[in-house]
Amino acid sequence: MTNVHTTRTFGTGTNEAVRPAVLAYVGLGSNLGDRVGNLRKALEMIDCENGVGILRVSSFCESEPLGPKDQPDFINAVAEVQTSLAPRSLLEALQRIELEMGRARARRWGPRLIDLDILLYGDLVVSEPDLVIPHRLMHLRGFVLEPLCELIPEAEHPARGLRFCELLDRVERAAGGRRLSPVQAPVCAR
Ligand code: AMP
Repeated sequence: MTNVHTTRTFGTGTNEAVRPAVLAYVGLGSNLGDRVGNLRKALEMIDCENGVGILRVSSFCESEPLGPKDQPDFINAVAEVQTSLAPRSLLEALQRIELEMGRARARRWGPRLIDLDILLYGDLVVSEPDLVIPHRLMHLRGFVLEPLCELIPEAEHPARGLRFCELLDRVERAAGGRRLSPVQAPVCAR
């Protein structure tokens, strides 16, 4: 992956004073209310965070919910961001945005106004109880891999040694070749 500076030698804490900028990828999802509007709002809020700037945004695509089916379909996208925040500070910023937007934490895999996940943070691999990077299930999820492949098809999953386009092929073959439906052109913050 083309990160601005390698991140391998850094910790994940919030109290490091100066950090070089890193390319990170944030997954966005919404299946309540104005789903496209929610993604746009979250993108604006991410871009307004100190130490985070959105560089590119994938297409928006629609996918069926995982788990309980008695809920609306999701709209998903991936944003490429440049950030000087430590991984944990980035997670906190995303969680603050989720709360400010009114997300209530309810049942697992239930409906949500907005869901923001750190998918990748440079080439960093983190495995802590409340922070796993690359995101724990991203290699299995078409709604993450498809938008991510639009942005960085040739990049490799830092922990699995496979390119994201190869992982997407596998997921699509397992789903009988089904692709997600594009929703509309991306809303790029810059
Ligand atoms: P969710 O309900 O899917 O938003 O999951 C939120 C929980 O996942 C939080 O408690 C986070 O601490 C944890 N988590 C672990 N790794 C990540 C990650 N890469 N991005 C976002 N949340 C994460």
